[in-house]
Amino acid sequence: MPVRALIFDLDDTLIDTHGQLVREAHWQACLAMHAAGLSVHPDELMQTRQHLLVTQPREEINALLANHFGFTCQTIIKAGFDAYFNPVFSELDLFPETLPLLQKWAEAVPLYLVTSGYEQAQRRKVELLGIEALFQQIFYVDIARLQGKREVFAEIHQTLGGEPREIWVIGDRITNEIVAGNALGMTTVWICQGECAHILPQSEQEQPHFTVKQIHDLDGLLQSQPVWKKRASVLP
Ligand SMILES: [Mg+2]
Repeated sequence: MPVRALIFDLDDTLIDTHGQLVREAHWQACLAMHAAGLSVHPDELMQTRQHLLVTQPREEINALLANHFGFTCQTIIKAGFDAYFNPVFSELDLFPETLPLLQKWAEAVPLYLVTSGYEQAQRRKVELLGIEALFQQIFYVDIARLQGKREVFAEIHQTLGGEPREIWVIGDRITNEIVAGNALGMTTVWICQGECAHILPQSEQEQPHFTVKQIHDLDGLLQSQPVWKKRASVLP
């Protein structure tokens, strides 16, 4: 089966968002919710937030946290949501040794980046990483668009043609890009790491075709695809 294109997620797939940004983003969300009127000490908010993230990983954490303390005010929930998805940061790196791999893959097939979040924050990440030129196209999917990635994946397939399974989707979220790629018949690779590593498949639609521990493991998988090998070998 030829590999026609690779579609990557950004956070916790190409960059260590969980290690580099997530804790700070959760803390900034706690501060923002406190400032918006959630009258619980930010340290306690942070502790409770972390506990809720583990015990109820599929729920929206800002609403969950506010409700936990008896607050239902949308302003408080929105303050946490906005701060979490738009944290202030000034440094960012790809996972070690990821850049040469992306360069190598980009020589063989078109790469796409499909990232959801606040566009401004996601654009800032891409800019800080300096990876724009590696991708055929970068899509910023608004966090409010629930089916956003699926729609973009379908658009990419329409542009490329061929069998959907020839397009590989690589990401860390079972409930986001993996389920979206599966729904369209694409080949899905779950990078089981970071904040969502404990969210396991609960249905056939959530079951990835391949599961790896980190982005580097993708190279071995691609090399085992006969047509990928053929395509890559004709390159200078
Ligand atoms: Mg991700």
